[in-house]
Amino acid sequence: MKITFYGVRGSIPSPGPDTCRYGGNTPCVHVETASGQDLILDAGTGIRKLGKRLMEKDGMINVLLSHGHWDHIQGYPFFMPIYQPDRQIRVYTSAAGDHGQICSLIDQIDGASFPLKATELPSRSECVMDNVETELARHNIHVTRRPINHPGGGYGYRIEEDNTSCIYITDNELEPPGEVATTYDQWVEFCHGADVLIHDAQYVEDDMPHKHGWGHSLVSQARQLAVDAEVGCLVIFHHDPDRSDNEIDLIQQQNERFFSQAGAPVTSHCAAEGMEIELTPQGGKGTVIEVDRSGH
Ligand SMILES: [Zn+2]
Ligand SMILES: [Zn+2]
Repeated sequence: MKITFYGVRGSIPSPGPDTCRYGGNTPCVHVETASGQDLILDAGTGIRKLGKRLMEKDGMINVLLSHGHWDHIQGYPFFMPIYQPDRQIRVYTSAAGDHGQICSLIDQIDGASFPLKATELPSRSECVMDNVETELARHNIHVTRRPINHPGGGYGYRIEEDNTSCIYITDNELEPPGEVATTYDQWVEFCHGADVLIHDAQYVEDDMPHKHGWGHSLVSQARQLAVDAEVGCLVIFHHDPDRSDNEIDLIQQQNERFFSQAGAPVTSHCAAEGMEIELTPQGGKGTVIEVDRSGH
């Protein structure tokens, strides 16, 4: 499978000279399976650019939402395939938390928050809220999920294909102060042995204790999870909107030092727009993980 990052920033788009290398768009990750299926993880503002690319390609588009917070849905009205006549788009979401049965991606196109109404769109969009794993499996996309520790709830996902695996867990506090949806040990088990772990690491120690309970993890916690779960590659994701490129460079240096001192065979990257990761199975000998950061 091939994983491409289109939006890596948390909370709010943050363009500008201090963020242009890693990018200021909100979360959107494209996973193209080896069989050519398109899976989109979250629909932050990064999805706009991905939409242009998918206009050149036919086939069903699958959008999988971690949760309905603004930064994960706000790019969808500008996702060009929704204006393609009869283009099939399936949005997989969840009724997690206390938001009830809403499909936030489509419901925001209501004629008030956006000039058009969803009913006026020519594409064939549908929302799948129940039996998400089973429905995806029917389309040959193999996903399991676990509830995130985040205000309002949501899910983290593990995608498997041909002995390769990628995990996407954003907006998750690994050690939350209050109610715990998934314990740290359960996360270790869920992530165990994955080739790639994309995990929220919005905060550093200076943000604490003020932001404890806001539903995001420390970089140091994401690193420890990568070691404990014995993953191949950690991708730091959902960067704070105030984190400059130079500060993210520093985080990357600290990551490399940490894994080398821990003697852990984990490679690490700070997610950047345009970064691509390709996973190729090696017939029982593990997976080749190739990372191309040239788009960054
Ligand atoms: Zn977020
Ligand atoms: Zn959130």
